[in-house]
Amino acid sequence: MDPQRRLKNEMVPVRCGIVGYPLAHTRSPELHRAFAAQAGIHIAYVVLPVKAAEFDSVVHKFFEGGGRGLNVTLPYKERALALADAAGAAAVRAGAANVLTRLEDGRIRADNVDGEGFLCDLARLGFAVRGARVCVLGAGGAAAGVVCAMLEADVAEVSIRNRHAQRAQTLAARLDDPRVRIAASQSAAFDLLVNATSASLTGTCPDFPESAAGPETLAYDLVYAAEPTPFMQRAAERGARTCDGWGMLVAQAAASFYLWHGIRPVTQSLCRPPNQG
Ligand code: NDP
Repeated sequence: MDPQRRLKNEMVPVRCGIVGYPLAHTRSPELHRAFAAQAGIHIAYVVLPVKAAEFDSVVHKFFEGGGRGLNVTLPYKERALALADAAGAAAVRAGAANVLTRLEDGRIRADNVDGEGFLCDLARLGFAVRGARVCVLGAGGAAAGVVCAMLEADVAEVSIRNRHAQRAQTLAARLDDPRVRIAASQSAAFDLLVNATSASLTGTCPDFPESAAGPETLAYDLVYAAEPTPFMQRAAERGARTCDGWGMLVAQAAASFYLWHGIRPVTQSLCRPPNQG
């Protein structure tokens, strides 16, 4: 390639971004920009708050316009998988995708790296998933990703509780694994209580039995926030150790960055969440 053309190509930023609704809370842009600076890549990371009726057309337009990749957040993870031409195994298992990537041939591929990010942060916290008894609050796209990852990591059992019970039943039926139960009654506190609902975004706490959390419990809220969330506060009152989802966000952003640019960012200095009890 002649030097003039190469210089022009290097000046053109790689277009990536995030699609979801609402998106006012997202901190994905700052992470991707930090990773890009570290890797010496010129990117333009756009935030696309999109209403349900426009989701497919906005995504197609982004990729037809040369976009490299999109992170997908609530409430579109199931739709992202349905829209894609190809999908990675984790996305197929979860029935939900949080990353879309334009392949060389122009097709769109769906992946789910939520589970990878979640396990990565649990490892950072020194929590052993193998053999653990877990309760997951929520049955949306994020819940599907983290439950699948924990099943792969040899969790002992996962009890799923959702505000609308039918959605939890649908998820459990699709996973078809004897370790998955719906709102199982329990006598002892869980080893891990996960808030995979979006309730914290509206300052509320999803319903869970008092006995679900105790001093031996790690209570993990997927939402990240400047202050402890109502879920974290309630779990802390029961003596649980608490953590928000910042470390997971960093780890799944790094995994997305790798899918789009082929470079694994160094994340250690970014990983410690402000809300880790
Ligand atoms: P979805 O929209 O797919 O699902 C939302 C879930 O939250 C549903 O189970 C819904 O229940 C439940 N819910 C919403 N409001 C309430 C409420 N007031 N009380 C109880 N339950 C409620 O979203 P996602 O699964 O994609 O995302 C869930 C959350 O996880 C989001 O807040 C997102 O920001 C966060 N997340 C964080 C990540 C990170 O890296 N830290 C990664 C992925 C997600 P119902 O079905 O009954 O409506």
